[in-house]
Amino acid sequence: MAFYLLPIKSLCQPRTVCNIFAKCLISPMGSHPKQRAISTTNPVPAEFGFMFDIDGVIVRGKEVLPAAVESFKKLVDSNGKFRVPVIFVTNAGNNLRCQKAQKLTDLLGVKISQEQVVMAHSPLKMFKQFHNKRVLVSGQGPIHEISMNLGFTNVCTVEDIRNAFPVLDVVDQKRRDTMTRKIDEKFPRIEAIVLMQEPAEWDSALQLIIDVLMTNGKLLDPPAKLPYPHIPLLACNMDLQWMAEAWMPRFGHGAFLVCLEELYKKITGRDMIYTALIGKPSELTMHHADNMCQLHAKSLGVQGSVKRIYFVGDNLNTDIFGANLYHRYLTRQRSGRAVSGIAAAITGRGNHNCELEIETEDVHASAEECHSILVQTGVYNAASDTFSNHSPRDFLPVEEGLREPAFCVPDVLRAVELVFQQEKFY
Ligand SMILES: [Mg+2]
Repeated sequence: MAFYLLPIKSLCQPRTVCNIFAKCLISPMGSHPKQRAISTTNPVPAEFGFMFDIDGVIVRGKEVLPAAVESFKKLVDSNGKFRVPVIFVTNAGNNLRCQKAQKLTDLLGVKISQEQVVMAHSPLKMFKQFHNKRVLVSGQGPIHEISMNLGFTNVCTVEDIRNAFPVLDVVDQKRRDTMTRKIDEKFPRIEAIVLMQEPAEWDSALQLIIDVLMTNGKLLDPPAKLPYPHIPLLACNMDLQWMAEAWMPRFGHGAFLVCLEELYKKITGRDMIYTALIGKPSELTMHHADNMCQLHAKSLGVQGSVKRIYFVGDNLNTDIFGANLYHRYLTRQRSGRAVSGIAAAITGRGNHNCELEIETEDVHASAEECHSILVQTGVYNAASDTFSNHSPRDFLPVEEGLREPAFCVPDVLRAVELVFQQEKFY
């Protein structure tokens, strides 16, 4: 089996994603002289940890990738205890963390705790200023339960708005014929919007979210003039596409956001404003994941902090971009050039419509480095000449090099083997 390795130092500028593999070093992993049988008695090292994306790295749809099962055998000892800190960082958001952890446990045959799972919406628990406001949450799955777990106390959904004001949602002609004309005059004003995941019915969500933005949350009493800036809008998961069972990538929440941004601009002539964009590739999400990784290390008995994070992902625009962005943030912080905290890192972009306060976590020592590893079992396809360079609007312009992985490997097993080699951990 060929092993593709692209060390950071071998990168040349300028370079495009398409020619990455032309510069790969090839070495046969199976015959590597340094590879030894894994000891199950090694103490857990304090120096490095893993972050894994899930879709396209660990699973494709409901199917686990065989390389993932093999790689996790190397990550735990004979008692199933992790030998190195491991965190999952996914932009999926239609599950509770405990449900995701249980699914991973079943698929990988290794006990995964919910403390090891970071989802796109996880950092919303830090946005306490919105927790007691009347918030419209858009997405699928157990939205109310997820929102309550994050701290929100007064949530409504697109379906709730449709039930309160049926005449507002008329794209679907079948609905027009059967709907009641009755409206709920006591429906409370909406004070903020959280776009958690792609909705099931995009037409309804696009129409009703724009209605809320254009009426300042007062659907029954729209102001004569466009309220601008509009009410606060937080969005999770910016993935344009993701890889499920199908042979081609599918629309992600980022595709829904593009539609919403364009429609708002077309109708109002103004730019839709994100109060915050969270989930990969945002630094806030990476910082939160770093914190979770340090906590996992502690739970394993590691004395010091995790200094080097290896982020394994299949998407150049979210995983690789996010890991590189965070590496740059850590480098600035270490050199004393970070002028402000992580909150400023996300609020410094775009036009913001409210003063954003982020309740910081009990912050543990951050990592010093974050290295990106691209796998080819998901969205990224080295053989394809079509390359999506989508980046969320508020992350533009993307600086040179942020989409270039530090390492390229065929799958997650090779990623784990590569890191063990780098760290001389066998
Ligand atoms: Mg992925």
